[in-house]
Amino acid sequence: MAVISVHTSPLAQPGTGDAGGMNVYVLQTAIELARRGVEVEIFTRATSSSDPAVQHAAPGVLVRNIAAGPFEGLDKHDLPTQLCAFAAGVLREEARHPQGYYDLVHSHYWLSGQVGWLARDRWGVPLVHTAHTLAAVKNASLAAGDTPEPAARQIGEQQVVAEADRMVANTADEAAQLERIYGADPSRIDVVAPGADLSRYRPGDRDAARAELGLDPRETVVTFVGRIQPLKAPDVLLRAAARAVADAPDLPLRVLVVGGPSGTGLERPDALIELASELGIAPRVDFLPPQPADRLAQVYRASDLVAVPSYSESFGLVAIEAQACGTPVLAANVGGLGVAVRDGQTGVLVDGHRIDDWAAALRSLVSDPARLKALAAAAPKHAEGFSWEHTADGLIDSYRKAGMRRNRAFGTSEYALRRQRGLWKLRRAGGVK
Ligand code: UDP
Repeated sequence: MAVISVHTSPLAQPGTGDAGGMNVYVLQTAIELARRGVEVEIFTRATSSSDPAVQHAAPGVLVRNIAAGPFEGLDKHDLPTQLCAFAAGVLREEARHPQGYYDLVHSHYWLSGQVGWLARDRWGVPLVHTAHTLAAVKNASLAAGDTPEPAARQIGEQQVVAEADRMVANTADEAAQLERIYGADPSRIDVVAPGADLSRYRPGDRDAARAELGLDPRETVVTFVGRIQPLKAPDVLLRAAARAVADAPDLPLRVLVVGGPSGTGLERPDALIELASELGIAPRVDFLPPQPADRLAQVYRASDLVAVPSYSESFGLVAIEAQACGTPVLAANVGGLGVAVRDGQTGVLVDGHRIDDWAAALRSLVSDPARLKALAAAAPKHAEGFSWEHTADGLIDSYRKAGMRRNRAFGTSEYALRRQRGLWKLRRAGGVK
């Protein structure tokens, strides 16, 4: 299958710039599909002259770096200007195989959907699309001063929704938004939850993790992990922490911020460091650059609580990863976080972003180690429900249905995907009418 990820490579370090949960999603689902015998080729835009044309990402998973526009310095908002060049690179790859090569296209994010839709038409194969985020939803809950997504994006999303054979939504809420705002046909939407690599993100020795990160074992560590930009609201955590310690100066609170600037956060990359100083809590706040997954697992284990205060979040992989490591989550009650966190059992959901509410939630949790412990104990079990294996099961089901829509001859068994592959090849060779 061809996976299209125009604007960000699955091999980029997540947690900074344009690389985040979608990169993790694309790579992890590709690895899991490849384990089941599906050959996956991921098309992404080359962003460095040193990017090789093809990279082996994992057994059965190739990354094709397509030259489309300048390698560096192309702003995300200018990417639509390069979709034609990118699509040409994708189509040329298939053209090298006169008998046909790709049996299915799965596009991620609307830019990829535009390319996927063209490839689907040229190749006569199904298109499955995952939006990951939707302009209309994001614009409805922007952080103060954040730039709204342009109207052209929503139009582009609308076109992809109309064209895709099937849409994959992270949650039932997202499916409802696709239907209500974008007019998607509900019978063509599959709800498939994302996951976490549960072999990597699992509970471990908290004291060893603390020692590795040089954190004081007596403090209560509350951690933010992710791309640093207003939409993710790391400032809400800092402001709430400042309020909480102003009210209770003995609170043994330390805040850890892990990640790098992204989106509009790139305009002032030191804004959060400056804010910690302005709030007078700089000595209680540590910053770490983006961490690779194994080290990030140690960060979660070393933390007593992970905060996800985002204004908008289509799912929130960080919340699942933290819980899988046995760390409860304090999250905004937005988007997929209401699914990712079981309120009152594996974490706490806060309605809205009022600093008083966040400070109160923080203070009550930090001053109640027994409650934190109980939430922590329940967290891994909840996270077990979210694995990339489950996600791959859902995707294969969606691929099967996408195939069935275009050709009713496709079987309905679990292994239909493989059979579809054979059928397509036969059909192209004139063997199946
Ligand atoms: N991440 C990482 N290292 C970091 C920070 C984040 O690998 O230092 C990863 C994290 O493990 C997660 C992803 O980035 O899988 C962020 O996904 P999430 O869904 O939480 O947010 P998104 O980036 O999609 O908005």
